[in-house]
Amino acid sequence: METGGGGRGPRTLLLALDAVPYRVFEEARSQGAFVDWPPTSALVAPFPSVTHVGFASLFQPLGAAPSDHYELRYFDVPANRIAGGNPASYGKEGPPWSEFLDSPHRSLTSELSNYVSPAWAARRELDEMERELFASERDIVVAYVGGTDGIMHLFGDDAGVDFLKELDERLMTTTRRHLRECGRPLRIALFSDHGCGNCQVRHANGFDDLLRKEGFRVVQRLEGPDDVVAPTFGLVNFGALFLHDADRAGEAALAVARHDAVELAAYSPEPGVIDVVSSLGSARIAWRGPAGAELYAYEDRGGDVLQLSEPHSRLVASGLVDDGGYASGDDWLRESAFGYFPDPLRRLVTALTGDRVQSRADVLFSLGPSWARGLRSAVVGSWVRHGSLKGTHGGLDRDSTLAFFAVNDPAFALPPAAPSHVALLSFAQLVAAEGTP
Ligand SMILES: [Zn+2]
Repeated sequence: METGGGGRGPRTLLLALDAVPYRVFEEARSQGAFVDWPPTSALVAPFPSVTHVGFASLFQPLGAAPSDHYELRYFDVPANRIAGGNPASYGKEGPPWSEFLDSPHRSLTSELSNYVSPAWAARRELDEMERELFASERDIVVAYVGGTDGIMHLFGDDAGVDFLKELDERLMTTTRRHLRECGRPLRIALFSDHGCGNCQVRHANGFDDLLRKEGFRVVQRLEGPDDVVAPTFGLVNFGALFLHDADRAGEAALAVARHDAVELAAYSPEPGVIDVVSSLGSARIAWRGPAGAELYAYEDRGGDVLQLSEPHSRLVASGLVDDGGYASGDDWLRESAFGYFPDPLRRLVTALTGDRVQSRADVLFSLGPSWARGLRSAVVGSWVRHGSLKGTHGGLDRDSTLAFFAVNDPAFALPPAAPSHVALLSFAQLVAAEGTP
């Protein structure tokens, strides 16, 4: 048996499981799975907490290009039209992040089986991962399992835990086989792109009426000053508004924030500032400092809409807030990662000003856990499983947001929580050395 002798250290498998929440991974651990793995990190997904934005963030250290859009059906800003979202035309081209995947080889977005028979689809994806792992000469293999997204949406936490227990057994067999056949240990980094809610999905309608009451024209193409495009997505609890006149973002945000299902709406009224509104009140986020080392300030204008009063008090008590009210992004993360809205300041700023999504919205809003927006969500819901659904994601809330990151190698000391864009930093050199598959 050779364990890294002759200069040959472990090989690495990066295995992404779509939509498996941190709480589900920890529940599986409490039931005996992955017990000999070092402690798990809670990964804070970007906002909106959806697949394409999540992987643009996870694979950012590997050099992944920004996502074109939030969801498969989207508003194409440069072309000024709604595009995508027809199941028959899914998957003509993979998303930018898929170029880093060794497996699966087929188009990800064509995988209707992920939502028809998700556990079967997930096992098939693991079969393909294993074939690729043993056929490949590469030192690092990157694999993706999409079936878990269907497991979480359709069957919920218990089914997710069952799948992880099965996966644990399977990975133990794989690592033993790897040592035997390849003469090298297999280091596995297991992670997900976002979380998922865990209660019966409810469908929210009536957003267009709220916008019309404010004098907007809800359209498919922006032509006049009152025009707003409000695309409906699938099973997600966030929404996006694209405006002809960005100066009206505040009015549009207030209009959708009146909806019972909406927890908050956010927009950037001027450079360097994000305003957040909800039925409870409003808040302002400001930030400064160099990219990657920003300081953030939270000004509660009533209602503590981001639920940051306690984290803020702890930061003040520790002397970590400067005279201008700013604290570092890392300090805010540590104090708020397990709060109702994990790390909301950095995530809202990145979502509304960053370049991780090409067709970026003027207003983003977050619905409560397991709400889904619009008629289309109801159609997709009935199409996949007679309308019976266990959860959604996309929102700023904890259930939708917290993904997980675990490595079966004690050499990787993971923090209790981390933003998803730093999780794979330590693997970037390995990936760069091998090039994309
Ligand atoms: Zn996903």
